[in-house]
Amino acid sequence: MVIAKVWVLKKHFDGFPKPSDFDLKKIELPNLKDGGEQKLLLESVFLSVDPYMRPYSRRDMKEGDIMIGTQVARVVESKNPAFAVEAFVIGGRGWRTHFISDGKDLQLLPSNWPESLPKSLALGPVGMPGLTAYFGLLEVCKMKPGETVLVNAAAGAVGSVVGQLAKIGGCKVVGCAGSDDKVAYLKKIGLDEAFNYKTVKSLDEALHKASPDGYDCFFDNVGGEFASVAMNHMKKYGRIAVCGAISQYNDSVPQKGPYVQIPMIFKELKMEGFIVSRWNNRREEGLQALLKWVVEGKVKFHEQVTEGFENMPMAFIGMLKGENLGKAIVKV
Ligand code: NDP
Repeated sequence: MVIAKVWVLKKHFDGFPKPSDFDLKKIELPNLKDGGEQKLLLESVFLSVDPYMRPYSRRDMKEGDIMIGTQVARVVESKNPAFAVEAFVIGGRGWRTHFISDGKDLQLLPSNWPESLPKSLALGPVGMPGLTAYFGLLEVCKMKPGETVLVNAAAGAVGSVVGQLAKIGGCKVVGCAGSDDKVAYLKKIGLDEAFNYKTVKSLDEALHKASPDGYDCFFDNVGGEFASVAMNHMKKYGRIAVCGAISQYNDSVPQKGPYVQIPMIFKELKMEGFIVSRWNNRREEGLQALLKWVVEGKVKFHEQVTEGFENMPMAFIGMLKGENLGKAIVKV
């Protein structure tokens, strides 16, 4: 019999999440059976902490539910021939050390995953965040070589892939992030211009200085005031991919304008929100492209690894505060 540790949402977040909003519990898992749904015992090896957990917890969860999330897990016991013991899978089973599955909700890591590549990257550049960058740039921004792309939260999981894919696509790239170390990293991975949005005197001036002609594409991870200012720097017929709004997720009182209509009309902009799962039918294409670029060293990566399942809430809160460079993950 296996006892799993799980983190539950004790209390709905009010403003910024706090450690006391979470509870660590133990649950007893049933033994595997030949028939039915209890075919696999899995052990989480890496767990992801992501910004979406903040707004989705309010929308989809009730107090007492196990926190939502994805993991890279190892098959410990198997009564399903499609999953060998010791195989690694991606699961979406939330903040748990162990879980039982019939396999239907699991995806094996791509079969050509090199042994030398960390499996945790399946939660980052070769996983959901990488796919978000890939489809957001190709299908929503529809970037073309020679164009100028702006990305914020640029040193994070999605943003760092956006910047590098836009370079691969032949664009000039401007990235913004919240610390000087992150800005140095953005230059190291090849962005043309990068600045610290927290220390510039004027965001308006910094965006103008980085690209005096303006921006064709804006991959927006942040929303709020940043997006309102950036909107005025778009070129005519510019495209804005509304990927995330992390500057608004912890607001108790919704932020107010300025509103988007006037710059959108005068510049004839296109602004489109998207959720990466729209392209689930092209997941394999995206993962193979990202895996190739990572293996070739064309997409570099950094992971912010927090050790220990008991530190999941701190890793999540730290990521929301901007403590992560690259993908924030927890090693169990
Ligand atoms: P990151 O790895 O980028 O981590 C979050 C980062 O957001 C922090 O490191 C911090 O970086 C930045 N941040 C936090 N608060 C603020 C703020 N008030 N203003 C500006 N920046 C802030 O996370 P992800 O790459 O996983 O996600 C990035 C965005 O993409 C999120 O908004 C997320 O919800 C969205 N997303 C959307 C998906 C979709 O399908 N639409 C899928 C995946 C992610 P810094 O130090 O630079 O401030």
